[in-house]
Amino acid sequence: MPEHMLRFVNVPQQTPEKRAVGERRQDFAEIYRIFQDREAAAQASRCSQCGVPFCSVHCPLHNNIPDWLKLTAEGRLEEAYEVAASTNNFPEICGRICPQDRLCEGNCVIEKGFEAVTIGAVERYITDTAFERGWVKPIVPRHELDASIGIIGAGPGGMAAAEQLRRRGYQVTIYDRHDRAGGLMIYGIPNFKLEKDVVLRRRALAEASGIKFVLNCAVGQDISFAELRAHHAAVLIATGVYQAREIGGPGAGLGGIVPALDYLIASNRENLGDHVPDFASGLLNAAGKRVVVIGGGDTAMDCVRTAVRQGATSVQCLYRRDRANMPGSMREVKNAEEEGVEFVWLSAPEAFLGDDAVSGVRAVRMHLGLPDSSGRQSVEPIAGSHFTVGADLVIKALGFDPEDLPAMFGEPALDVTRWGTLRINHRSFMTSVPGVFAAGDIVRGASLVVWAIRDGRDAAKRIHEYVVQQQALPAAAE
Ligand code: FAD
Ligand code: SF4
Ligand code: SF4
Repeated sequence: MPEHMLRFVNVPQQTPEKRAVGERRQDFAEIYRIFQDREAAAQASRCSQCGVPFCSVHCPLHNNIPDWLKLTAEGRLEEAYEVAASTNNFPEICGRICPQDRLCEGNCVIEKGFEAVTIGAVERYITDTAFERGWVKPIVPRHELDASIGIIGAGPGGMAAAEQLRRRGYQVTIYDRHDRAGGLMIYGIPNFKLEKDVVLRRRALAEASGIKFVLNCAVGQDISFAELRAHHAAVLIATGVYQAREIGGPGAGLGGIVPALDYLIASNRENLGDHVPDFASGLLNAAGKRVVVIGGGDTAMDCVRTAVRQGATSVQCLYRRDRANMPGSMREVKNAEEEGVEFVWLSAPEAFLGDDAVSGVRAVRMHLGLPDSSGRQSVEPIAGSHFTVGADLVIKALGFDPEDLPAMFGEPALDVTRWGTLRINHRSFMTSVPGVFAAGDIVRGASLVVWAIRDGRDAAKRIHEYVVQQQALPAAAE
């Protein structure tokens, strides 16, 4: 066994220092500090270099985790970066926002008894250090190809695919309806989890690699899907899911009840220095308000913590199941509680009170019943258990469904599943329309950045195979 490793018996687990609650409630900066060199090496040295590394098995990208941990423990950081970057386009982003407790770290074998290796924090440290020291370089393909690929959506799925295709020499153009690249990494996920400089430097790197961005361009509106197909040898759809799930009941149309993504986009834009009229008018600003967020996923967690930072007078989160059954990451719930958010478990809204604007939410207590066919416990209201909470701003964070893509793109041949996600052949990544591929949330439904990266990488491989076959490209493209 290498002398630097297996230190889990003597070296306790250490997560990167969290900023003090009082301080972090005041601003939008990331809450975790980056490891110091010595801390990262010590934490990496806790790994027992498993023969069958369950951490890698449960990482969607099957990162070579034990290898880069060993290199970090030995101080060979540039090599550690090369290994980390060979399987992951954005390791510093995954290191920050993957729910590691459910993926790599949750499956680390020393978790039981000694607490997991802090894999995500080391991954972030390696790549942030690589950026700092100038080791992260734009892609220079060995050969340029004439074939061009069009990608719709500059989120992690589209960006990862673009990089992989550019490496092979393709001419790649990404179209996005927003004015900035990054998808939900730029406008959904707040700064305190992922500072925007980290996303912006990835876009700059992509541009320096020769990837073109056509922003403020909604496909289906500003340019037709047919035009795009005619222009490119293949097209990848990586448009994510944006149709917010609605909530009904009396008063659901009152003022002051807003969709989560509108609220988060406004906050992210303000933090990027944009002027957002609905923020300035107070509609999408929690300052001085009693805020109630409805939902229990990552989006709800981001909303409650954003509201705290905007200066809400109180922030409550209503969720119909309990803590153990919520979809959001436990780490984020803990962070939210530390920051003063009150969780009202097992409660669901029934009506919204107020004249024009909302002034309260009438909710009912729920109890968990027997598991349904999916294995998830059903929820049922408890008769006569109504209660009311005061609210000046209600944020609906109930999840997202896909938009109607066949209609949006004027392409009825685009096959969708019963959930509205795009149907693909899971081996070829091709949709029902020849030469049109799809990846990320638009195929999986709302998921994770790391899965979008994985899909983008896989789709890029299949697009390459397709183009080679169609155009009889020489082996140089390999
Ligand atoms: P997206 O990131 O959604 O990108 C799609 C892009 O396509 C967008 O830029 C959009 O503008 C563009 N687009 C859509 N339609 C068109 C069109 N017609 N023409 C042109 N462009 C178009 N995941 C994590 O791993 N960790 C987290 O902590 C986390 N937190 C989250 C918090 C929030 C609030 C939300 C909403 C999601 C969070 N996620 C998190 C999930 C994660 O962001 C997504 O799974 C991931 O971004 C999906 O990537 P994607 O590339 O498929 O789509
Ligand atoms: Fe863990 Fe995510 Fe990194 Fe994989 S990509 S090692 S799951 S933090
Ligand atoms: Fe190291 Fe844990 Fe992975 Fe084993 S499971 S290789 S101990 S990080």
